[in-house]
Amino acid sequence: MNSPMTYRKYETTDGLRIQLSEEVFKKIQEHCVRHYPKEFGGIFYGSINSNTDTAMVEDIIVSKWFVNTTVLFRRIAWYFNWRLKQIHRRSNGQLYYIGEWHTHPNAAPFPSTTDLKAMCRIANNPNIRIKTPILLIIGYDGRQINECFYIYLNQNLTSYARL
Ligand SMILES: [Zn+2]
Repeated sequence: MNSPMTYRKYETTDGLRIQLSEEVFKKIQEHCVRHYPKEFGGIFYGSINSNTDTAMVEDIIVSKWFVNTTVLFRRIAWYFNWRLKQIHRRSNGQLYYIGEWHTHPNAAPFPSTTDLKAMCRIANNPNIRIKTPILLIIGYDGRQINECFYIYLNQNLTSYARL
């Protein structure tokens, strides 16, 4: 596939940025629709460009081992950890975990208190190198996708706007 990639870009009011390809976003949308009306999610890996404060999403990881209902999604950690180790090694350390994504079926893409707690746990996990993980929440009502990105920073989730 040599077609030029188009990117979706997001930015916080403080100038922090996220970039992900339309191709990756499409994959997320497909998972969202397929699992509707149940929640689904996965993780992002990529890299952080510290010169431009940009989280560059390379791709997502999803697993077939999970528990989900219309209001809950739980993933089993070992598979993601194993895949991340592999990706980290094969990219000579250039690609690593950068955050989480999950759907909110029939709800707005606003973080719940559970979401905030989960991001806090991730940021404080000594095994995770990134201290400001990103979170994408996808609201979907069966017709329309409504996404919002956040970054965990200063014990809070700050939202990004799409550019
Ligand atoms: Zn949530």
